[in-house]
Amino acid sequence: MKKGLLIVVSGPSGVGKSTVREVYMKDESLKLSYSISMTTRKPREGETDGVDYFFVTKRRFRTAVKNGELLEHAEFVGNFYGTPASYVEELRNNGRNVILEIEINGALQVMEKCPDCLSIFILPPSMEELEARIRGRNSENEEVLQGRLEKARKELSYVDRYKYHVVNHDIQQAADEIGAIIKAEMEKE
Ligand code: 5GP
Repeated sequence: MKKGLLIVVSGPSGVGKSTVREVYMKDESLKLSYSISMTTRKPREGETDGVDYFFVTKRRFRTAVKNGELLEHAEFVGNFYGTPASYVEELRNNGRNVILEIEINGALQVMEKCPDCLSIFILPPSMEELEARIRGRNSENEEVLQGRLEKARKELSYVDRYKYHVVNHDIQQAADEIGAIIKAEMEKE
């Protein structure tokens, strides 16, 4: 069986990564599986352990890092996040194309370890639009909001490190573009 692809998807907070993912994941012909990360962040309302994340203690996370269990790991706004390597490997060996929806520091580690991975960066139509989306979805104070925007600007400066760029003007259109990129890559070789 042909080994599945490793697909890294990043984009600033508020760009709509998970909303777009929900659409392209529905296309069975793409043979996609979502890599469930390990995190020390507390579950948000509606999140389930083993579905959205593996929620762990800082101690368990440190052990995972020490034992080399993680393909990559990074700190993001005070919490740790990492990709369990064996889970990804098992899925790929079963022919599944695996989606890692991760932030930039982790993505750069994956690109270095697996140079043949497929990397996709989702961009907002503009910074103004991103600000409007973050404002629309949060009830956060101005300082937190400015912090998120500052982080988004920093993240956007890494866009050139990714093989493909998709602008999220429209959810369905962005999902279709990502689907087409994956299909083209599956047909290579
Ligand atoms: P959130 O706390 O909003 O679920 O995620 C915060 C950020 O961490 C998002 O950009 C998300 O894509 C990223 N993230 C989720 N899982 C992982 C992971 O396993 N590794 C890395 N490096 N980032 C992750």
